[in-house]
Amino acid sequence: MVLEKLGDSLKATLSKIAGSLFVDQKLIAELVKEIQKALLQADVNVKLVLELTNKIKERAAKEENAKGLTKKEQLINIVYEELVAFLGREKRTVEIDVKHKPYSIMLLGLFGSGKTTTTGKLAKYYSKRGFKVALLGLDVHRPAAMEQIEQVAKQANVPVFLNKTEKDPIKIYNQFKEEYRKYDVLIVDTAGRDALSEDLIEEIEKVNTEIAPQERLLVISGDIGQAAQKQAEQFHQSCKMTGIIVTKMDGTARGGGALTACAVSGSPIVFLGVGEKIDDLEQFNPQGFVGRLLGMGDLEALLEKTKEAISQEDAEDLGKKFLKGEFNLLDLYEQMEAMSKMGPLGKVMEMIPGFSQFKLPKEAIQVQEENLKKWKIVMGSMTKAELEDPEIVDQSRVERIAKGSGLDTGVVRDLLKQHKQSKKMVKMLKGGKGDMAQMMKKLKGGMPGLG
Ligand code: GDP
Ligand code: MG
Repeated sequence: MVLEKLGDSLKATLSKIAGSLFVDQKLIAELVKEIQKALLQADVNVKLVLELTNKIKERAAKEENAKGLTKKEQLINIVYEELVAFLGREKRTVEIDVKHKPYSIMLLGLFGSGKTTTTGKLAKYYSKRGFKVALLGLDVHRPAAMEQIEQVAKQANVPVFLNKTEKDPIKIYNQFKEEYRKYDVLIVDTAGRDALSEDLIEEIEKVNTEIAPQERLLVISGDIGQAAQKQAEQFHQSCKMTGIIVTKMDGTARGGGALTACAVSGSPIVFLGVGEKIDDLEQFNPQGFVGRLLGMGDLEALLEKTKEAISQEDAEDLGKKFLKGEFNLLDLYEQMEAMSKMGPLGKVMEMIPGFSQFKLPKEAIQVQEENLKKWKIVMGSMTKAELEDPEIVDQSRVERIAKGSGLDTGVVRDLLKQHKQSKKMVKMLKGGKGDMAQMMKKLKGGMPGLG
């Protein structure tokens, strides 16, 4: 996960709140100090950190149990909301308007920030969504730039317009002008420099006037940390950026600095680059990002997937059973079915509030997925009465079921054990602070939630 270290520190801090007896000044002061430490370590600007933590302190002192939350939940919610605000609050997406043919997206940025790589990622991203995409290579300065974009286009399986001998980007653009109308999206790669120089601004302005792209996206490398602020502001002033793509978020601990710096620069962050491969691009959504960072789970994403997998009534039924503490094998089966439709178990776990803390090793997830397959077969050999009341399954029944399913008695016992554990967990959640009830309520309401 991106910014794993920052996430871990923030999660540890929030678990401390959850585990404390009550919220008092001392706890708030401690929380604030730890958030400061975590953010500074992620290279977030000191002034921004202080602004943020002052706001958290102020709100924690002022706001009285709003929204029917407990004091602890409210404190966690304040941290969540302020971090989201810190990263730009709203999600801004780059939607292709087919009125423009093509919808032109120009990428700008310094040398080595990841522009060319990102043209390929965007090409794949929009192709997958059904748009006809082409690339245009206008980096006339860097040797081998044209070969690189040729490669990238091949990987993305889209055509690219380029001219290996021409040194004037305007001429290259005009050379293919008749062709662009055949495409929905034209992604334009441009030249960078070591710094935003007069030369670069002049070139960008010329190209910008000629192409008049719908989007001008600044590509900025996350590994420069808070230095991103100056860069983003300069580009914004000279070139009126419509959005920012922060790359290399996979390999850097300073990404938090880059993200928060960009968020105050005047242009919204629209995508994150999270690796060198063509699929390593994520849409940026402050709420989901902070939610995952804090281990609250990306409820919005989970909700989307749940919608595909289980109907609203199913979810409510399951929720009610959870709350009543009734949880038989049929419920476990339904839940497993729904889960398997949602995607790989590891991913799903990461999105469920409260579960993201339990980091399962890869092998454990694989084993669990194997188990799920076998258990479904086992359940196929059980009677309705056994499924509804697994307690009645004695030794002789275990043997009969094993025979019927063609599997080991050990597998049957594992399943029964798993059911017992799940049931216990359901009881625990129910008996505890009502977290499950909260979660279900929030899932239904579609609110970005708490852990
Ligand atoms: P340009 O000069 O702006 O066109 O930058 P390039 O696209 O050539 O990228 C420069 C280097 O950064 C290349 O080695 C890329 O593989 C690498 N790169 C780009 N985006 C990412 C990213 O999101 N993660 C990682 N780890 N590397 C990236
Ligand atoms: Mg390049």
